[in-house]
Amino acid sequence: MLVLVINAGSSSLKYQLLDTDNEEVLAKGLCERIGIAEPRIKHQPAAKEAYSAVVEMPDHKAAVRHVLDCLTDANHGVIKSLDEIEAVGHRVVHGGERFAQSALISDSVKEAIKDCYPLAMLHNPANMTGILALEEALPEVPQVAVFDTAFHQTMPEEAYMYAIPYEYYKKYAIRRYGFHGTSHKFVAERAAELLERPLSQTNIITCHLGNGSSITAVKGGKSIDTSMGLTPLAGVPMGTRSGDIDPAIVSMLMEDEKLSVEEINNLLNKESGMLGISGVSSDFRDLAEAANEGNQQAQLALDMFAYSVKRYIGAYTAVMGSVHAIVFTAGVGENDSETRENICKGLQRLGVIIDKSLNDGLRGKEAVISSPESKVKVLVIPTNEELAIARDTAELARSSGKVVK
Ligand code: AMP
Repeated sequence: MLVLVINAGSSSLKYQLLDTDNEEVLAKGLCERIGIAEPRIKHQPAAKEAYSAVVEMPDHKAAVRHVLDCLTDANHGVIKSLDEIEAVGHRVVHGGERFAQSALISDSVKEAIKDCYPLAMLHNPANMTGILALEEALPEVPQVAVFDTAFHQTMPEEAYMYAIPYEYYKKYAIRRYGFHGTSHKFVAERAAELLERPLSQTNIITCHLGNGSSITAVKGGKSIDTSMGLTPLAGVPMGTRSGDIDPAIVSMLMEDEKLSVEEINNLLNKESGMLGISGVSSDFRDLAEAANEGNQQAQLALDMFAYSVKRYIGAYTAVMGSVHAIVFTAGVGENDSETRENICKGLQRLGVIIDKSLNDGLRGKEAVISSPESKVKVLVIPTNEELAIARDTAELARSSGKVVK
């Protein structure tokens, strides 16, 4: 089935056209600076030359028009007609407590996505603009929403509640939701395949380490705890996000530095994490280079990151009782062998032993990096959120009866 996967941000729109029968990508691309000066589309067909152009893109509707034009273009297109697109899958960041699974988009699903706006002001409204634009462009095609939060809806109450007055859970739905769910689910399922164990009998710690990072305890295929919280700000320190800090720091900084709500949010989301500690960059490659040249703050940022991930691995080992595998994925997890080694260093007593020769220099490839005597298998598994979205979309579109194939 040909599925168009859409990830709409506030001023960007990423897309991939996939054939779910052979899981091949026909084309992918990005519209950026939507509604701002010099908007651009970058289109990469699988077997043709890339195309890039500055075009008129006042809104997401216009961006979608350009995407569909690119996909059907005589030179850089990959399909003859839009009729070939059989379903559209949308990444939606927050599904609140309503969605434990992906959903075929209907009026009530759209209402529920809107109900989650207060929980994800940066993401859900942008995701919705993508949905509305595609509904208008392809009105006959089934559309599916795939939520970042859905996989974590299996967490037990004691893991997802915050110890603030209970009334705020009832009033504002304040609780841990967790994110990157599509990725954690994808790599956990793949890990069980590689281990040749039924997923239902496998305990896995999945480490999605990228610009944003989260760690999840996956017991029997279900998320039972995860490091991100009400928002993606919680957990380990990230590229520019602080991760977990003492909540009292917020009021103290607001008072002492005379910061507004917007300013403190900006500080914790955009100026903290690896960037804030190092003063160099949020990118792990820059940090490694700076640390090698003797920059101590860059080294400290890398050390804090590895220490924090290690702490979560220890906590989730305790929570699950036993662990069959630890999985590294996303930009840092897939590519940064030094960070993987530092995270796993000293975990021998927990049964984790990395084989340096398997780990060193391994980039972006699926592999086992633990030594044969390691009780816990350590795996690198490239994530593929677009493919996961396309699979769910194809399944739901088929069940909708709107797709005949
Ligand atoms: P993601 O958010 O999953 O796209 O990950 C992006 C991050 O991955 C970048 O900010 C880099 O810090 C990191 N990254 C990508 N490639 C490498 C690499 N070869 N070595 C170390 N870190 C990398």
